[in-house]
Amino acid sequence: MGKKTMTVRKRIDVSGIVQGVGFRPHVYRLAHRYCLSGQVRNTVAGVTVEVQGESGAIKQFVRSLEEEAPPLAQVTGVFVADLECKAENGFHIVNSPQGGRVDTLIAPDIATCSDCLHELFDPADRRYGYPFINCTNCGPRFTILGHIPYDRPNTSMAAFTMCATCQAEYDNPLDRRFHAQPNACWECGPMLALLDSEGEQVVRDPLEETIALLKTGRIVAIKGLGGFHLAVDATNTEAVKELRRRKKRFEKPFAVMVASSHDAEEFCVVGLKDRVLLESPQRPIVLLKARSGSGLSDAIAPCNPELGIFLPYTPVQHLLFAHGQFRALVMTSANLSEEPICVDNEEAVGRLHSIADFFLVHNRDIRLRCDDSVVRSVQGRTTILRRSRGYVPAPIALKDELPAILAVGGELKNAICLTKGRNAFLGQHVGDLENLAAYSFFRESIAHLKNILQIEPEAIAYDLHPGYLSTQWTLQQKAVRTIGVQHHHAHVASCMAENHLSGPVIGVVLDGTGYGTDAQIWGGEILVADFRDFRRAAHLEYVPMPGAVQAIREPWRMAVAHLLHADPDCFEQNCRFLKTLPRERIDIARQMAARQVRSPLTSSCGRLFDAVAALIGLRTHVSFEAQAAMELEACCEDAVEDSPYTLTIRKEDDCFSIGTARLFQEILDDLYEGVPKGTISLRFHKGLIAVFANLVQQISRETGIRQVCLSGGCFLNLRLSVGLEEKLKLLGFKVFTQSQVPPGDGGLGLGQAVIAAHHIHQGL
Ligand code: ZN
Ligand code: ZN
Ligand code: FE
Repeated sequence: MGKKTMTVRKRIDVSGIVQGVGFRPHVYRLAHRYCLSGQVRNTVAGVTVEVQGESGAIKQFVRSLEEEAPPLAQVTGVFVADLECKAENGFHIVNSPQGGRVDTLIAPDIATCSDCLHELFDPADRRYGYPFINCTNCGPRFTILGHIPYDRPNTSMAAFTMCATCQAEYDNPLDRRFHAQPNACWECGPMLALLDSEGEQVVRDPLEETIALLKTGRIVAIKGLGGFHLAVDATNTEAVKELRRRKKRFEKPFAVMVASSHDAEEFCVVGLKDRVLLESPQRPIVLLKARSGSGLSDAIAPCNPELGIFLPYTPVQHLLFAHGQFRALVMTSANLSEEPICVDNEEAVGRLHSIADFFLVHNRDIRLRCDDSVVRSVQGRTTILRRSRGYVPAPIALKDELPAILAVGGELKNAICLTKGRNAFLGQHVGDLENLAAYSFFRESIAHLKNILQIEPEAIAYDLHPGYLSTQWTLQQKAVRTIGVQHHHAHVASCMAENHLSGPVIGVVLDGTGYGTDAQIWGGEILVADFRDFRRAAHLEYVPMPGAVQAIREPWRMAVAHLLHADPDCFEQNCRFLKTLPRERIDIARQMAARQVRSPLTSSCGRLFDAVAALIGLRTHVSFEAQAAMELEACCEDAVEDSPYTLTIRKEDDCFSIGTARLFQEILDDLYEGVPKGTISLRFHKGLIAVFANLVQQISRETGIRQVCLSGGCFLNLRLSVGLEEKLKLLGFKVFTQSQVPPGDGGLGLGQAVIAAHHIHQGL
């Protein structure tokens, strides 16, 4: 029954994250499985395989190459070409030519894998209990890398010489530690030490002692992959409160680490997708709906219906939880919020000695700070709130090949972006660029990413806001072309880029602050946009922000502006809803708004949320960004009377203006009638959804565009994002949102880069 078999020879070029991740051993095993001869080697562009054998087997081999790729590998391209058959025996891993420039992708830091965990807790294993166990499939990568190529001498493992046993593992292509750069063991690798708050070493077992200290409510700074955490027992309210007091962080939620996703269910509602995220090799902090009465301290996330939960991702963290001593630990970033990480243990003690009682440190240096990532799953789709450890520097695949661009991001939640070919590399979360310490970390992240990715940008893209430090830095770079990009255009482009659209699209961008082309502060916008250009098609009506940036920290100021705007005649009567505020302060703000003194105009959606939250008595002041808006969303409750509030539409020239006066009058009517906050919040959300859906329809009728992009920080509000998306889909629109990069300002860099690239392409 001879189906004719044919022997062929193929060359297969694989690009992506394929070096230092166990790809060649993977190829080797597959070649054996399919009885193929040939060879595999690393090249400047990735991995090149030559295989010879039965043509059907080669097809299966190519399929398995990608489908069964090792966990850390990220294949971005597989190109197959025909070769002449030749006489040969067996399959071989060939050494890469020495001295050749290796131009390939660097893997992110990855959580301890199950094979390593097995060894970690196996008393018979030579690495039993070793706090720095890792292999080709797991462990530190990005955070220990100083220079490329990614070889041990260029990492902070250079200080440790492998023992003979580790070296043998490292050299053996079939060992699961083949070329694992951080390979180490008790005999040759990094070690833990416990220091007191004076930096003196405590001579007891560092891990056992740390567990004992945490059990008694002490605060311990623990060195992790990308920085220090401050840890306390999450069930000990006194300890959590003491941490808040010392850290001077009074309300912002703390992240909580638990041993497993099973344990997470004790404290939170964990859906199927949540579990996948919690257990993913990136091990992000996952926002989950908190269960009440679970035994966790209320001080962890006051006034917040969600908890940020994550699972152990380093051997040290696994060992802390190993003996069932803790149900949960608060693990909050120990970098004084704006300051860059202490790579150095002494520096950490110096900066944190007033917060931490003890320091669990080790002697493997952190080369670059990388915060924990934060994600949330909504109706089966992931939203990334902060893209950092575990994700950086893995690329985001683009539709088109782009020139090399550096985009410097925005001001808040800053992250930079570099492009090369079809890849966009978003840098790690830098944070809020409001001081020199953050600014130097920003510059460091640019230099480091350029270096390890070997990208020399042709142009730098930046935000139009003249006050942003990222903008000011860009304008000092004389040697390179600079391209300014409007903030909300960048948001739309970011959404388009990750969804491989080219536009034009209708972009609904709702956020807190972005500099407009008219020098006002935008933030409640509908743009008709492609990568080249945009037109502002609709926006929330302008209101003054009395006190400028002060109005961001004090939402009551926006309530005053809106009350004045909605009904100046009844202001006296209406402002009694701001009853907790001294009368003089209200009067000053009112006068500032009326005379437009220190009161820039804004169409911000975030500020509209603030105004409503303050007016209905949720809060007059915030201690972190979006706090009032989050509480307004959280208080939302289903009600019998749930008709949307009215936002009016008026056309001026070519642009719709969305009026808020009626909305506030209706809110006031409800307040006078004693309608509950939850109902007011519901009607407000519905009003926003209705007006933006309505406008998208009108703009679509005018333009014929049916693709809608939703972006901007306000879309982290689930009621708004899910509600608007559903409504638009019912109306027959194709709706695109963001799942690979944050919809907030953390994703701005991607949009800036793509827009700048198109300017260069078009010779603009
Ligand atoms: Zn491993
Ligand atoms: Zn060793
Ligand atoms: Fe924004």
